[in-house]
Amino acid sequence: MRTPLIAGNWKMNNTEVEALSLVRKLIQGIKSLTTVEVLICPPFTSLSQLSKLLVSSPIQLGAQNISDHDAGAYTGEISPRMAAEFCSYVILGHSERRAYYGESDALINRKTKVAQRADLTPILCVGEQLDERERGQAAVVITRQLQGALQGVKLSDPSGLVIAYEPVWAIGSGLSASAGETADFIGGVIRPVVSGLWGQEISQKIRVLYGGSVSPENAGGFFTHDEIDGALVGGASLSADSFLGIIEKAS
Ligand code: PEP
Repeated sequence: MRTPLIAGNWKMNNTEVEALSLVRKLIQGIKSLTTVEVLICPPFTSLSQLSKLLVSSPIQLGAQNISDHDAGAYTGEISPRMAAEFCSYVILGHSERRAYYGESDALINRKTKVAQRADLTPILCVGEQLDERERGQAAVVITRQLQGALQGVKLSDPSGLVIAYEPVWAIGSGLSASAGETADFIGGVIRPVVSGLWGQEISQKIRVLYGGSVSPENAGGFFTHDEIDGALVGGASLSADSFLGIIEKAS
């Protein structure tokens, strides 16, 4: 019912030359994509060249961040419309932006709204810290993050938003969450919050990804669960073999 999405978050890695080389390998490895949607989110500096390379490829481009303003005097920022020249998606609320750049739910809420206005589909990241999980607070934290980031956001088409559940302690740590627990959490916490915002039908059709140390070795375990609609992949998206291995597991 929901097409799986495999999204690679390159973070602050790869110069333009390195990006072109990696994407050439991905293009060679991906023969035809019928059952899985594939997205890469490189740094802004490579988007223009990569968009030319990918012109007849099913691999899509996404941004890792955007400004919360439409345009204007915001030195150093990239507007949603600038990103939308090359990208169909934008990652918002990533835990690294929350932790290192102080992004609040209110800021992520503004970015979600400007992204929608520019026809960019937000991939909204939510996730609990290890101590929050250990104190049994994961559901409360994720509910607060979702309601804060999505307050006043209109959604009539479930393909207009993707949610990525990324426990913070699992990101880049080599420790992934258990696939079964993740599926239960998505079905028991995340979809009910979405249902409260936009109704049951949207909550069943919206895609919810898992992110946190996904690798070709553990990916298959996540994708056997109906509740998990793909993955947001960090480290393993920097190697063509690993990323292609994950895509293969999803198809
Ligand atoms: C991420 O940064 O969103 C992520 C999931 O990273 P990694 O796969 O490296 O844990």
